[in-house]
Amino acid sequence: MHALTVNQISFNYRDGIPTLRDVSFHVEKGEFFSLAGPNGSGKSTLLRLLDRIYVPRSGTILLDNKNLTEYPRSELARRIAFVPQDTAVQFPFTVLELVLMGRSPHSRGAMFESEHDRTVALEMLERTDTGHLAHHPVTMLSGGERQRVVIARALAQQPEILLLDEPNAHLDIAHQLEIFTIIKKLNEESGLTVVSVSHDLNLAGAYSNRIGMLVCGSLAALGTPGDVLTEANIRSVFQTNVLVDRHPATQSPRVTLLTSQ
Ligand code: ADP
Ligand code: MG
Repeated sequence: MHALTVNQISFNYRDGIPTLRDVSFHVEKGEFFSLAGPNGSGKSTLLRLLDRIYVPRSGTILLDNKNLTEYPRSELARRIAFVPQDTAVQFPFTVLELVLMGRSPHSRGAMFESEHDRTVALEMLERTDTGHLAHHPVTMLSGGERQRVVIARALAQQPEILLLDEPNAHLDIAHQLEIFTIIKKLNEESGLTVVSVSHDLNLAGAYSNRIGMLVCGSLAALGTPGDVLTEANIRSVFQTNVLVDRHPATQSPRVTLLTSQ
C-alpha cells in the first residue's frame, strides 16, 4: 500500500527555473524513506509539497490514493506531521505547552487538553529525552534541545506520516543517534511512515528502507541504500570522491570522504 504517491510533479516558486521537475516516486505505508542531495536541490521544497504548504504547478500528490488538495486541512494535521528545517519559537511557551500544541488537531475544538493529551505529550518528552525540560521556556533552550522538543511535538500529533527536514542538523552525535533510533522504533513498532531529509548519508543508509537522491530538482537515483549510496552515484551527485564499504556492525553502506592531498 502506498502512503504517498508523487506523480510527475513540477514546482517553481516564481517564474523562472523550476525548483522541482517531473518528480515521481511513492512511499510505502510503514516505510522509512530518505531524501538526500546537494544544497538547493529541492529537498525542503518537496517536503513542503508533501505537507501541502505548497501545491505542485503540475502533477499530483496522493495520500491514500486521494489528491492531497482534496483533504480538509484539519484532517491533514491529524495524519501528517512536519518538522521543518529551522523552527523559530518567538513566544516563551513552556516545553510542555509547546508539545501539547501537537495534540490540537485531535482536540476537536476543546479549549483545554484532556488527561490523555497530557499523557501523550509527557510520553513524547520522555522519548526525546526532554522530560526534565517540561517547565522551561522554549526560548531558553539550546538548538539541540529545541530540535528534540519540536520532534516531541510532532510525535505528540500521533501522525501516520512524519516529515522531517534535517532532524539531526543541530544535534550532537549521541542525540542524532537517539532521535533516529526513536523514530525508527515508532516506524517499526507502530507503522509510522517516515520521510526524512538527511545530509548524513551514513545515518540515511543505516535507517532507511529506500533513499531518493535529488539533483537540481530531479530524482537522480531511487532505491535501497545499497543501490543508491554507491561511489559512482555520490561522485556524480556531489562531485566528491568517497569510499563506500559496509559498516562492520550493521552491514549498511558506509560512506567515507576521501580527502584530497
Ligand atoms: P534543499 O532543501 O535541497 O537545500 P530547497 O528546497 O530549500 O533545497 O531549495 C531549492 C531551490 O529553491 C533553491 O534554489 C532555493 O534557492 C529555492 N527556494 C527555496 N525556498 C524558496 C522560497 N521560499 N522562495 C524562492 N525560492 C526558494
Ligand atoms: Mg533544505
